Amino acid sequence: MINNFINQDYINNILEDAKFAKDDIICRALDRAQRGETLTHNEIAALLTTENPALITRIFEIADNIKRRIYGSRIVIFAPLYVSNYCENFCAYCSFNHSHNFKRKKLSMDELRNEVKILEMMGHKRLALEAGESDEECPIDYIIECIKTIYDMKFENGEIRRVNVNIAATSTENYRKLKNAQIGTYILFQETYHEQTYEHVHPAGPKKDFSWHLNALDRAQDAGIDDVGGGVLFGLADPYFDVMGLLLHNEHLEKKYNTGFHTISVPRLCPAKGMNMENFPNPVSDETFAKIAACIRIAVPFTGMILSTRENHEMRKKLLRLGISQISAGSCTGVGGYAKRESGIHSQFIVSDDRSAVSIISELMDDGYIPSFCTACYRGGRTGDRFMSLAKSGQIGNVCLPNALMTLCEYSMDYGNDVFKEKTNAIIKKELPLIENTNIREKTLENIKNIQSGKGRDFFV
Ligand code: SAM
Ligand code: SF4
Repeated sequence: MINNFINQDYINNILEDAKFAKDDIICRALDRAQRGETLTHNEIAALLTTENPALITRIFEIADNIKRRIYGSRIVIFAPLYVSNYCENFCAYCSFNHSHNFKRKKLSMDELRNEVKILEMMGHKRLALEAGESDEECPIDYIIECIKTIYDMKFENGEIRRVNVNIAATSTENYRKLKNAQIGTYILFQETYHEQTYEHVHPAGPKKDFSWHLNALDRAQDAGIDDVGGGVLFGLADPYFDVMGLLLHNEHLEKKYNTGFHTISVPRLCPAKGMNMENFPNPVSDETFAKIAACIRIAVPFTGMILSTRENHEMRKKLLRLGISQISAGSCTGVGGYAKRESGIHSQFIVSDDRSAVSIISELMDDGYIPSFCTACYRGGRTGDRFMSLAKSGQIGNVCLPNALMTLCEYSMDYGNDVFKEKTNAIIKKELPLIENTNIREKTLENIKNIQSGKGRDFFV
């Protein structure tokens, strides 16, 4: 069944009304958000559109508080893995666009293994598999073969434990295949919820069909994938319209499947080969982008928020304080890019934070964060509403925090030098007392000692 839960007039009216929202209404909404209450659409629209610097500062403070309260200092680390750049679509913003003339490539299984080996050597445990859309060159069975190949690989230091998938909207039957291949989250960006803009930037190819794309996460849920991730590509349409679209989409999924987005990604349009940024009339400034991230954090406190290396070092640092809970590190956005990093790979877009994974991870620790490599929820089958009830029960501190500390300890033993190990110990010392449950705290310490002495590697599920 085709749903259209995006009522454009409704969103436009709310955004129009928001222009007249008085500052004291916004202050009251922020007080309610601070107390953990859910805000109305009108309140969120008023937060989004305010230009009052004092209120924006308060929005940032509350987003930061919410994030600390729910997620603590953990930041989940992942890397994208591009397997194919064949594409039948004509997305105006993307360098893989069908009309662009370059030598297309998809990874052979040997090349894939090589990429995964390099990612594993960087310490990654969680990947996001990415591909263009081509039934002929990159059919679902090829994607499934890639996933199986990745999960089958075993290394001295473990294995890739969670493969999230970011491929084009597909059929329920294909989503069932992805489910059976034990993917983590299925991620699909709506790009924009503004139908006319959507049609304008997707002039041809299967992705042209707005409803097919909009209903893809329903099909994924119908096929049993209960961790689904959304996002919009900021810079295509009015960003406030798109945030309201994201929230309506989330509510639709909550109503229908009892669980909304597992994650929301906030990609922002960046330069890419074959596209000209000047052709996109809705650029989003750094200030607006930060306000948007903070408003999303306030609107959906329990949803993970993902930021990629599209953003530069400085912006990532800022947004980590405003709600982001997952970041990519050491990323390449071209097919075969990890093996051939220096040799002119055709990237999907230009990465702005090109620091190595280890320097990103190390700096996170210097800034007081715990880089987390945990995949326990997925491995223990705690997905969909089971994860959400964990988050909402406030038990993240007794489950995710111990796992973050243990997986960081594992990472430091496997990949860290002495300085890194010292930093890890300092974090463990600081964070361990924050585990409220005494038994869990003691067990975590015991496991950490086992990891450090090479006796064994037990994580919680
Ligand atoms: N091909 C699939 C699709 O389009 O749904 C899978 C995802 S594609 C590999 C990853 C995402 O990259 C797209 O959804 C799009 O939002 C984003 N992207 C493409 N070109 C971009 C650009 N120039 N700047 C930022 N993000 C871009
Ligand atoms: Fe193809 Fe995805 Fe790029 Fe569009 S965004 S051209 S579908 S790879």
